[in-house]
Amino acid sequence: MVRVMRSDLAEHVAHLRLVDHHVHGAFTVDLDRAEFETHLNEGSPGPVPDWMTQFDSQLGFAIRRFGAPVLDLPAHAPADEYLARRTELGGRAVTERFLRAAGVSEWLVDTGYAADSILDVDGMAAASDGRAHPVVRLESLAEELAAEGVAGQDYADEFGARLEHATRDAVGVKSILAYRAGFDIDLSPPAPHAVADASRRWVDGIEHAPGGPRLVDPVLMRHGLHAAVQLGLPIQIHTGFGDRDLDLHRANPIHLLDFLRTPDVARVPIVLLHCYPYHREAGYLAQAFENVHFDVGLAINHVGVRSTQVVAESLELAPFAKQLYSSDAWGPPELHHLGAVLWRRAMTSVVGRWVEDGDWAADDALRVVDMIGRANALRVYGLG
Ligand SMILES: [Zn+2]
Repeated sequence: MVRVMRSDLAEHVAHLRLVDHHVHGAFTVDLDRAEFETHLNEGSPGPVPDWMTQFDSQLGFAIRRFGAPVLDLPAHAPADEYLARRTELGGRAVTERFLRAAGVSEWLVDTGYAADSILDVDGMAAASDGRAHPVVRLESLAEELAAEGVAGQDYADEFGARLEHATRDAVGVKSILAYRAGFDIDLSPPAPHAVADASRRWVDGIEHAPGGPRLVDPVLMRHGLHAAVQLGLPIQIHTGFGDRDLDLHRANPIHLLDFLRTPDVARVPIVLLHCYPYHREAGYLAQAFENVHFDVGLAINHVGVRSTQVVAESLELAPFAKQLYSSDAWGPPELHHLGAVLWRRAMTSVVGRWVEDGDWAADDALRVVDMIGRANALRVYGLG
């Protein structure tokens, strides 16, 4: 009897078409071993030292366990065989296999980081046979303006006009404030003269900035965030885990309390991305603020088989209507696939156990799976 219930649930979860509400493009290029391994480490942007392999990690083991069968290899195939099979099939074919095997119908694609080397929004839709929708990165928009020398009194008007234009076909915006300033700063809307001054300072200093303008000015970051609040589209905010550029302790979403208490902000959906290791703080914020939602994407992939625990912890304080699925995959299409596999596996295991123990009704378990995997994202982003 109990076994039947678990397999019904597993069947249901396996066939649910997911909405991956925060993801980046996948590579279609061939990768050598060193390049591939670099992308299995989120924290370090540098090459993997030659005395170790990044395959010896939860993520590496999970790719060999769950990715190998997608490439017609046995589960746990050794890394060398895995990479040889990848090369044999070619980057384009590998990407199509993984994206299609993910069972995702909608990808919400952040196009703001290193967009030249990965599939764009249309490319993601075509390669996956699904739908893809753009999410506009606020900081990239500001950097575009600065590169064109827009500054002073014109900056705010031009930013507003560009934001309006860029988001015509977008379903949301995203901020990487965590990377550039941290959350433990004043996040109130800056005065117009402060924005004009800050943009002038920025543009004046650009000729000395190698690699083009990079927005780090807190005043302009706050301005971008509040311009997005006025626009009213859902605002995704990177929180928690990321590469070592970020001061992790300043990326704890609990520092956003004052921002979230602002009446204007309360009218806009705020989606906290990733959150790990602060997913419990995110769960509290999702309980405390009607407009706050969150996911545990990115971490699910990187903690591999331990994602069961992270997903269980995400199901503690937060109402189930406030949680979303994401892979936060970037680059290797294994990550777009693995996020979905590990999330399905974790949900089946965690809520399946509660049903078996008689703590949850089987129908409720199915409903919650549908909400987090799909329905909540369709509601938050206004997708039909
Ligand atoms: Zn991301």
